[in-house]
Amino acid sequence: MKKKAYMVHNPLTPSKAVEFDPEICTGCNACVEVCRMDVMIPNPEKGKPPIVLYPDECYFCGDCEIYCPLPGANKMVFPLNQRVGWKRKETGEYFRAGMKNPPPPNKRPAVG
Ligand code: SF4
Ligand code: SF4
Repeated sequence: MKKKAYMVHNPLTPSKAVEFDPEICTGCNACVEVCRMDVMIPNPEKGKPPIVLYPDECYFCGDCEIYCPLPGANKMVFPLNQRVGWKRKETGEYFRAGMKNPPPPNKRPAVG
């Protein structure tokens, strides 16, 4: 039988927790020290950004970003299901802050 439709699982969205900008980060490891969950370990290569070893342990307190002496050296990467969705009252457009290509407005009437 020719398949007309098929189901696929939801795409995995593994948590990254923290992302580093290697152009700014000097590998001082202040973020490693301040993290209560020991999410990261120092990079064995001196001067390189820490390694995120246990991203799922992160509870997004933000301390690693707050206590970093170099603004922009690291940033939180929230999992997709924790990013707040917004809807414009005027257009009904649904989007997430920082979304590059927001989808077109959903104009379907509400169910029920
Ligand atoms: S992200 Fe900031 S605190 Fe962490 S190692 Fe790099 S410079 Fe240091
Ligand atoms: S946000 Fe908090 S728990 Fe997560 S890596 Fe940074 S300091 Fe650790």
